[in-house]
Amino acid sequence: MADLELTDDVPSAAADGVWLVCIECGETFAPFEEIRYTCDHCDGLLEVRYADLPKFEAFEGEGSGVWRYHAALPFDVGVTLPEGNTPLHEVPRIEESAGVENLRVKHEGMNPTGSFKDRGMTVGVRVAQEVGVDRLACASTGNTSAALAAYGARAGLETLVLLPAGKVAAGKIAQAALHQARILEVDGNFDQCLDRVQDLAGRGEAYLLNSLNPFRLEGQKTIGLEIMEEHYADHGEYPDRIVLPVGNAGNTAALYKCFRELVAAGAITEDQVPKLTGAQAEGAAPMVEAIEEGYDETRRWDEVETRATAIRIGNPVNAPKALPGIRETGGTAVAVSDEEITEAQRELAGEGVGVEPASAASIAGLHKLRERGDIDADESVVCLTTGHLLKDPDAAAEAGAEPEPVSNDTDAILAHLEDGSSSATGTVGQTVSNAAKSPLGILAGGLGIAYLLRKLRSKE
Ligand SMILES: *Cc1c(COP(=O)(O)O)cnc(C)c1O
Ligand SMILES: [Zn+2]
Repeated sequence: MADLELTDDVPSAAADGVWLVCIECGETFAPFEEIRYTCDHCDGLLEVRYADLPKFEAFEGEGSGVWRYHAALPFDVGVTLPEGNTPLHEVPRIEESAGVENLRVKHEGMNPTGSFKDRGMTVGVRVAQEVGVDRLACASTGNTSAALAAYGARAGLETLVLLPAGKVAAGKIAQAALHQARILEVDGNFDQCLDRVQDLAGRGEAYLLNSLNPFRLEGQKTIGLEIMEEHYADHGEYPDRIVLPVGNAGNTAALYKCFRELVAAGAITEDQVPKLTGAQAEGAAPMVEAIEEGYDETRRWDEVETRATAIRIGNPVNAPKALPGIRETGGTAVAVSDEEITEAQRELAGEGVGVEPASAASIAGLHKLRERGDIDADESVVCLTTGHLLKDPDAAAEAGAEPEPVSNDTDAILAHLEDGSSSATGTVGQTVSNAAKSPLGILAGGLGIAYLLRKLRSKE
């Protein structure tokens, strides 16, 4: 089993108080002398360690975004666009429908390329410069490739992305293409793309920037730092729980690292650590299986399928870091159906928060765990939404209302509106019935009718 305990001993391999450690055998390595992604001896996952861990005071007066937290990172500044400082939305109607004391949504879709992957790349591409490479590469379900293409372009480095043919949302390919990455469409799924790119990196042909690269997770742990700071400032306490979509489990691992470091620094106590709670799609849920069955590691799922293409992953590489994170924090993991994901995507959109399908798995998971009684009504919960609505325009169009053709004539348009919902069928009815479940929805419905009546009267 992985050893994730942070110790005080600084090994001789450390450079400026930073080193790498193998979480399986404990071997330590200099951080930037040679390129390695896993342990030389046992192939275990590596983790970045620091001689000095900051408390929250260290971040005061340090601007905003990922690099505000440079005291917790290996560099003072990276290749930046800039990233981080994403909104922590209030979502009163979902809070009501889920039935929790407090619900906030951390919308990572508001990063420069529209997903949290930017937080990892600002650090990862900086490390690529440090170790001196000229070609970057990743396998991707889409967002990693969009982020790497943009940060690679920013750094002036060649970028190679390997994508599962036909399984990547349109917005993401468009980004990788315009940011001038070479896009290789592999006849295989994501896990197979990752096998191939690991081979290329192993042969020294490219610098690997998947979340297997431990420096990516350093950037991503700033999601946790932002949540903790802002939640405390707004509510005088830290959240009880964070629910997040899980694919390769990099974010789960990164958040757990954030909390371990805060505890080791004395910034928070053990019992202030939020319960890490993962949500996966039913068709790609090896982490949920491992949690439910009590496995030490995940079983590789060779066949995976879900509308939430960003989490269509059968072999989560960061499971050895993430499974202890879920268990040690008292969290859990839950699988949700594609229908539940789409319904949650609509619900978020109804609060003005536009997300891609994978992101909505966190809200769908919250609902399911509340119904099961695994999340209590008195909890303060933060749900992570990982990517922007425009990443997957096809999914958004399918989940949303149909456009209604009207003639170019104001009276005809008014007549059409009075006519009601003739052409906008299922979707609108569904939205109304959902809205009617909450008091605010009834209020909104009432206001709508009042508005309509006033309009009708003004016509006379
Ligand atoms: C990458 C990604 C995920 C999965 O994150 P992991 O860190 O691999 O678990 C979830 N949602 C979106 C939108 C993503 O881009
Ligand atoms: Zn090892």
